[in-house]
Amino acid sequence: MAKYLIVGGVAAGMSAATRLRRLDESAEVVVFERGDYVSYANCGLPYYIGDTITERERLLVQTPEAFRSLFNVEVRTGNEVTAVLPESNSVRVRELKSSREYEESYDKLLLAPGGSPVKPSILGSDHPAIHTLWTIPDSDRIRAMVDEGNVKTALVVGAGFIGLEMAENLHARGISVVVVEMAKQAMNVIDFEMAAMVHRELRMQKVGLYLEDGVSRFENGPDGRVVAHMTSGRAVTADLVLLSIGVKPNTGFLAGSGLELGPRGHIVVDEYLRTVDDRIFAAGDVIEVTHPLSKEKTAIPLAGPANKQGRIAADNMHGQTPRSYNGTMGTAIAKVFDLTVGMTGASEKFCKAKNIPYDTVIIHPNHFAGYYPGAMKMCLKLVFSPENRRVLGAQATGYEGVDKRIDVIATAIKGNMTVDDLAEIEHAYAPPYSSAKDPVNMAGFAAQNILDGLVRTMTWDRLHEADKSELFLLDVRTPAEFATGSIPGAVNIPLAELRERIADIPKDRKVVLFCKVGLIAYNAARVLEANGITNYCNLSGGYETWQIATAAQESAWEAESFQIREGTEMLTAEVKTDSDIVIEVNACGLQCPGPVMRLKQEMDTIAPGEAVSIKASDPGFFSDAPSWARSTGNIVRDISVEKGIVKAVIEKGGAAPAPAASAGNDKTIIVFSGDLDKTIASFIIANGALAMGRKVTMFFTFWGLNALRKPEKVGGLRKSLVEAAFGWMMPRGSRKLALSKMNMGGLGGIMIRGIMKNKNVPSLEEMITAAVSGGVNIVACQMSMDLMGIRREELIDGIQIGGVASYLEASEHSDNNLFI
Ligand code: FAD
Repeated sequence: MAKYLIVGGVAAGMSAATRLRRLDESAEVVVFERGDYVSYANCGLPYYIGDTITERERLLVQTPEAFRSLFNVEVRTGNEVTAVLPESNSVRVRELKSSREYEESYDKLLLAPGGSPVKPSILGSDHPAIHTLWTIPDSDRIRAMVDEGNVKTALVVGAGFIGLEMAENLHARGISVVVVEMAKQAMNVIDFEMAAMVHRELRMQKVGLYLEDGVSRFENGPDGRVVAHMTSGRAVTADLVLLSIGVKPNTGFLAGSGLELGPRGHIVVDEYLRTVDDRIFAAGDVIEVTHPLSKEKTAIPLAGPANKQGRIAADNMHGQTPRSYNGTMGTAIAKVFDLTVGMTGASEKFCKAKNIPYDTVIIHPNHFAGYYPGAMKMCLKLVFSPENRRVLGAQATGYEGVDKRIDVIATAIKGNMTVDDLAEIEHAYAPPYSSAKDPVNMAGFAAQNILDGLVRTMTWDRLHEADKSELFLLDVRTPAEFATGSIPGAVNIPLAELRERIADIPKDRKVVLFCKVGLIAYNAARVLEANGITNYCNLSGGYETWQIATAAQESAWEAESFQIREGTEMLTAEVKTDSDIVIEVNACGLQCPGPVMRLKQEMDTIAPGEAVSIKASDPGFFSDAPSWARSTGNIVRDISVEKGIVKAVIEKGGAAPAPAASAGNDKTIIVFSGDLDKTIASFIIANGALAMGRKVTMFFTFWGLNALRKPEKVGGLRKSLVEAAFGWMMPRGSRKLALSKMNMGGLGGIMIRGIMKNKNVPSLEEMITAAVSGGVNIVACQMSMDLMGIRREELIDGIQIGGVASYLEASEHSDNNLFI
């Protein structure tokens, strides 16, 4: 009778145990689990804390008793394996309750001990309000704190899958959540522009997000709270902190076993999941796997692979039908509030890092027929090989239908399919389920067009970094769409006029064509090609991708909460009810500017004091509606997002058109100058106005931007030669500014700073910090940044990037407008 021992009683371990029993009814199967639970749903823990899963028992998929009675598997919970002794084919075990130690022999051993959350050695991280989430007891502790009702604010450290799931579930319990992430994006496995949609979802849900920042130390706060100090100098006070910064393999007990470990401590196995000892196998989060696309060893901690590896390991331990494990390519999915984020195979950044030749395309199709009610936009990025047309990877975000497309493409990658196969996939279609051309087909078509030379594309980041003077940016959307915003410097020639106005297209510059999502621009590209203009490219993903990816990604929480506060104040002041909502509009399915135009159309028909309730599936409507209402003198009573549908209630303002747009007592300052004295003057005025309770907007343009530059050089920005030279010649930050007069090679600046210090006048840097923290709306002019080659990453935190429209809107509420 064979005797199988298994270390670890959850995903990989229990899959193996039950498979072994099915393969061999007579075998002895013993599972050691150091915790009190086996086969529990760790993926469900965040949802139990969020109360979506209301009954704790539902997390316990199986019990030790059930394993014994149903499968005749002996499960020893509370028993930790402390050593593996290959020379005697046995393991050393400690019974945790009694501390009794014993040895148990095996014929075959499976190591499936998984991983544990990384706990950083940050000063103060032993504070009782700081938690990690991995096990049932972890979730019990966190849920108990939340249930007691004392958690009003939470800080989530790490914007990976578990961190974001927890942000959503804590938020669902009425808690204000801030997420801080060291990288420049959430979910680091996906590409930046896809993560930008996650950032937008967090903004819409009013969750704070700080990027490129980390906790440097914790300290005790008032009333049992914890204060997290960030490397940026920010401090967040929270009732609860969740550390979610990664996972490390549980291999400490293997010391001295002779088993080979990889560079990050994972167990090295062959394709049969066998360690260097052919009686010992390993599976799950604890092992190194081969990535099928790079052929390199990596570690991908996911439940699907762990379960499948458990089954394969059991087959190989039993030996009758040996099976190889062919690698993990990281197919994963997560729900981030209402947004679904899915990925499979190689991302663009993965291809870059591994030197895999690749091309990409981004499309924004509807998840089913656009004319059928409820159609929602998704964003699908396909990564493919220009060498053999193979599909390499995909990422998708959206409110519906993401899972299905990612699974289809994952299957295509597994089957070594090409983009031509994607174009041909015959999918099940009826309007409520898909379109006659499914998004997967559409991605295949778009990739075929690129590979067949029918269109050339440029990605948003290449455009962002390009020398714009060498480009002709051509926006082929309708004038109404163009009026809602475009890429700075773009010229609008709608597709319908392009043939007649072909002479307006310059021949001496590369033409970058774009529309909202790329489809109309593709048609325009064909028109250019037919007219002999071949020096062009189509912006992949269109204006939508460019806009989302180049927007300010972090700290939007402050701006959004301000916006919402503004709305709430109005709501309480007016004590309005829904009874005077006279029109309900469903603008779902309409693309920008459709929802705003529908809103205007309906608002024109109602009387002051009455309201329109409007729903739109365009996520941009979340910011468009308040902007439109503010600039037209109407009032946002309420705005919310649910499952990707923005719902706004807009009340018609006074009888006179746009009354709120007339001058108030706000102050606006255009800071054009980059001189030290003039910059000091602008901040003195701004902080003075702030102290008087005025709302202040400072719009930094051209040389003024230098005051907002970070003092240190920011690497990895891939600038053109001209941009790099510009950046090198201009002062980097407020400390490098020169006086407009009597600068005397910098001596004047030093003198004025000395005088200010002696007279107890705050330094320029202190004034800037006071302005940012006091709520001055500091806007860096996008257009000037583009012209001068300055990137968002080079500017200080706490500011916004905006166009002239942001400034003009602010100036309409201002009684004092300075140009410095
Ligand atoms: P585990 O499931 O971690 O099991 C290992 C077990 O071994 C543990 O119970 C541990 O106590 C025990 N053990 C360790 N050392 C010893 C020892 N020396 N002696 C005895 N017992 C020992 N993955 C997804 O694919 N999708 C998701 O949505 C998802 N969500 C997640 C959410 C959360 C909150 C967490 C924590 C994980 C999530 N995962 C998700 C990851 C997924 O749960 C893991 O990849 C999977 O559980 C790994 O299985 P495993 O068997 O290798 O390890």
